[in-house]
Amino acid sequence: MCGIVGFVGRKQAAPILLAGLEHLEYRGYDSAGVAVIDNGSLDVYKTKGRLQILSDMIGGGKILPGTIGIGHTRWATHGKPSDDNSHPHKSSSGRFAIVHNGIIENYGPLKAELEKKGVAFASETDTEVVAQLLDAYYDGDTFSTLVKVIETIEGSFALGILNRDNPHEIYAVRRSSPLIVGLSEDGNFIASDIPAVLPFTRTIYHLNDNEIVRLTEDTVEIFDTARRPIVREKEKVDWDVSAAEKGGYPHFMIKEIMEQPEALSKTIAPRITHDGSITLDGVQLTKEQLAALTHIHIVACGSAYHVGVVGKYVIEELTRIPVTADLASEFRYQNPIVDAHTLVIIISQSGETADTLAALREAKQRGATVLSIVNVVGSSIANESDNVLYTWAGPEISVATTKAYSTQLAMIYLIALYIAGQTGKISKEAFSSLLTKISALPEQVASILKLAPQLEQLAQRYAYLEHAYFLGRNLDYAVAMEASLKLKEISYIHSEAYAAGELKHGTISLIEEGTFVVALACCERLIPKTLSNIKEVKARGAEVLLVTVENCQLADEQADEVDHMIRIPQTNELLMPSLEVIPCQLLGYYIAKARDCDIDKPRNLAKSVTVE
Ligand code: GLU
Repeated sequence: MCGIVGFVGRKQAAPILLAGLEHLEYRGYDSAGVAVIDNGSLDVYKTKGRLQILSDMIGGGKILPGTIGIGHTRWATHGKPSDDNSHPHKSSSGRFAIVHNGIIENYGPLKAELEKKGVAFASETDTEVVAQLLDAYYDGDTFSTLVKVIETIEGSFALGILNRDNPHEIYAVRRSSPLIVGLSEDGNFIASDIPAVLPFTRTIYHLNDNEIVRLTEDTVEIFDTARRPIVREKEKVDWDVSAAEKGGYPHFMIKEIMEQPEALSKTIAPRITHDGSITLDGVQLTKEQLAALTHIHIVACGSAYHVGVVGKYVIEELTRIPVTADLASEFRYQNPIVDAHTLVIIISQSGETADTLAALREAKQRGATVLSIVNVVGSSIANESDNVLYTWAGPEISVATTKAYSTQLAMIYLIALYIAGQTGKISKEAFSSLLTKISALPEQVASILKLAPQLEQLAQRYAYLEHAYFLGRNLDYAVAMEASLKLKEISYIHSEAYAAGELKHGTISLIEEGTFVVALACCERLIPKTLSNIKEVKARGAEVLLVTVENCQLADEQADEVDHMIRIPQTNELLMPSLEVIPCQLLGYYIAKARDCDIDKPRNLAKSVTVE
């Protein structure tokens, strides 16, 4: 999820590109680069690290004279952050330079084919295949060449393209990655997002999937892939830059909650093959190694640990291998029983969490195989793991995680199903059915996000409570842990998660008139049990919000026990956590908002916890 900008006009391009990129750094910041055409020469300047390093390298852009260029801030998905992997990427002939946001899912076979034909690649990125394909297919017409390329590549992309031979035009195209066009007196722009163009113009076009745009200093033409012109209404933006960076939302947290369908697609889609199997890039475990596993430990901190708790239920159910979810800070000092037949799954958004990294080293030292689930490419945990799976969720700015949690969870589902398939623990039919349901999760999450107004209204009612309890059984309990943490970390309301059947062994003494209880009951076979626990807290005066599935039938007397109810669509029981966590995130967010909390930066917390 990186940032793209492009400019062609009557002013020097490089300073404009840098100014635009500055407002896209929230989309990626591990490297930056620009390409400009001047006097028939197409030159690329790029570097690993923050935008400032690039800016210093090119004198704030002033030393590059051209009036046409493209720029990029990267959030690596394929290939570590490095100078070579930074964008723009040039084709071998030097004719094309491109910037890309997204993932080219079939880059592997395409790269192999091009290499067979003698094309030498200069980077490890998926992006470079696009530059090389442009060269390979070039017929003198950038438009028709680009159409051929986008018919060949699969996945998600927004692309900005310069062709040295046509030094007055920029081409751009998108599919499942954002791209807008900005129009001004001084020239025209492309950008991943509105903030990049706001210092220069408030007039924009949104582009749709598979639309190709050609920009010159005076013209903007949008075409479909058959070169039919598309007429588009101009839009006027009235946001300021800070609101625009948050996509018009008041906080990054709600923006990231809303981004989850897209983030989930990025995690899931590239891992499902055309023939309906799972491909886990970055995992070298053989069938034999998987079959010989005697134990799996999932080791993490905070919300990532809660993913581990879901993982325990799911992996055990599908593979029948015993699984323990461990807090990294405990695991590292507990003399863990792990050996060569143990798989240790490490989960960390940043890949730098100190306790998790220490746990990883402990596990490796004892001979375990390590598989990590990480969001930041090239991070310490990724570098030190035998096998790495990236969530490809893009940068998460809000300290309280939402899309990282959801994509880690999706990854756990894929791993569980993969191991079950490889070890013959699941029938072909059950495998396909579950995989189809995993691929439907992004859409289901999108439909649940429509409940936001309802949850915002409910939040007004609960905003001034001092205590909250989240109850659930089995997978619902695992989600209750995350839901409770979400509420407490951003709203500062004291909150606890309890296994619903456990409450009566002590904690029920805390329930009194008006105590807020959120009951999660999405595990269909356990709904009656959880309903009995609701009765117990209701009898002591609790105010109960029930989160359950659409087709949960409640008898009148059961419905009377519940003060409010949120119903969500259903999927396989094992996958329900992905769906039921969504209203919980929204509830936590809106309660914190009603309490006017500093939501994106809660007190005493940091995004990446690099201390013990
Ligand atoms: N897949 C590309 C890369 O790793 C683009 C990254 C992105 O859009 O985040 O360079």
